[in-house]
Amino acid sequence: MNSEHEVLIIGGGPAGLSAALALGRMSRNALLCDDSRPRNAASSHLNNFPTRDGIHPAEWRNLARKDLEKYNTIRFFEGSVLSVVRSGSGFLAKVSSGESFIIKKIILAYGVVDKSLPIQGFQELWGKSIFHCPYCHGFEVRGSKIALLGNGEMLFHMLPLIYDLATDLVVLTNGKAEIKEEQKDLLKRKNIRLIEEKILSFAHEGEKLKSVTFENGEELEREAIYALPSFPFKLKSQIGEELGCEKDQFGFYKVAERGKTTIEGVFACGDNSSPAHSVLLAAASGGMAGAGVVHELLNEKLFA
Ligand SMILES: Cc1cc2nc3c(=O)[nH]c(=O)nc-3n(C[C@H](O)[C@H](O)[C@H](O)COP(=O)(O)OP(=O)(O)OC[C@H]3O[C@@H](n4cnc5c(N)ncnc54)[C@H](O)[C@@H]3O)c2cc1C
Repeated sequence: MNSEHEVLIIGGGPAGLSAALALGRMSRNALLCDDSRPRNAASSHLNNFPTRDGIHPAEWRNLARKDLEKYNTIRFFEGSVLSVVRSGSGFLAKVSSGESFIIKKIILAYGVVDKSLPIQGFQELWGKSIFHCPYCHGFEVRGSKIALLGNGEMLFHMLPLIYDLATDLVVLTNGKAEIKEEQKDLLKRKNIRLIEEKILSFAHEGEKLKSVTFENGEELEREAIYALPSFPFKLKSQIGEELGCEKDQFGFYKVAERGKTTIEGVFACGDNSSPAHSVLLAAASGGMAGAGVVHELLNEKLFA
C-alpha cells in the first residue's frame, strides 16, 4: 500500500528546507526528498546570509536540517523523486527507493543546473575564482583584475556591479561580440577592454586563477571571473514540466503569490522560479511556498 503525506517537497536546499520549516511549525505532514546536488557545492563559503556570513554551505544545510528535527511531522528521504503524476484530487509520487506516496500538495524546490563551459580550467575554478554572482563572492576579490565572461544584452545587467568591484575590468565574449555599437562605445569610454578572441584555457594554481589563454596564443592575467549564465536555465528535474507547470522565457516556473505555479496543487520556490539566486532569497521564497501550501490545506480542511 502507498503511504500518504500531505506535502511532498522535492529538494532539500535553502528553499526546500525553509518550506519544510513553515510546514513543520504548522504541524503539516510533509516528506522532504533530497538527492544531494546542492547548487553551491563547489564553494567553501556561503556569504550574504545574516548570522551565518562565511559559513561552509554544507554546515548551513546541516544547521537547517537540525532545526527541523523537533518537528516530528517532517520526514526525510535521502534520494531522488523520480516522478509525480496526478492521482484523483492529489498526486502519486515515486522515489528512487522504489516506494510510492500519495500526496496532496507538491513543492518544487529542486533548483537549477549550472552549465559548465567546455574550457580547460573552468570546472576546477567554478565557485573558487569563477563566480556567478558578486553579492555571493565579490567582496573577497574587490580591487583586483577581473573579467566578465558572457555575450549579448545580459552583459550590461552585470556590468555595473563588476565595474565598481574591479580595478581593471575586461569583457570576454569568447567569440564575436553580440552587442550594439553604442555599448562598445560605452566600454571604450570607461576603459573596459573588450576581447572577442576565443578562450583556450584558464591557468590556475590550486583554486586561484592566474591567467586566461586565448586561441591566438595571447595571455591575460586575471584574478577572478564572473560568468554569465546561458539562458534559458536548465532545472535539476523535469517533474514540474511533466505536471504541466508553465515556464517563462528564462526557464523559470511562473509563480503567483506564495509560490503557486500554473498547476493546481503545485508550488515552486528557490532558484527554479526566480532570477534572484541567493540562499537568503531562496529560503524566503521557500517560506512563502510553505505558507501557501499551509493556507490551501487548512482552507480545504475547514471549508470542504
Ligand atoms: C558556486 C556557487 C556559490 C554560491 N554561493 C552563494 C553564496 O555565497 N551566498 C548566497 O546567498 N548564494 C550563493 N549561491 C547561490 C545559492 O547557492 C542558490 O541561490 C541556492 O542554493 C538556491 O537554493 P535552492 O534550494 O533553490 O536550490 P539548491 O540549493 O540547488 O537545492 C536544490 C536541491 O534539490 C535537490 N534535487 C534536485 N532534483 C531532485 C529530485 N528529483 N529529487 C530529490 N532531490 C532533488 C538537489 O539535490 C539539491 O540539493 C551560490 C551559487 C553557486 C553556483
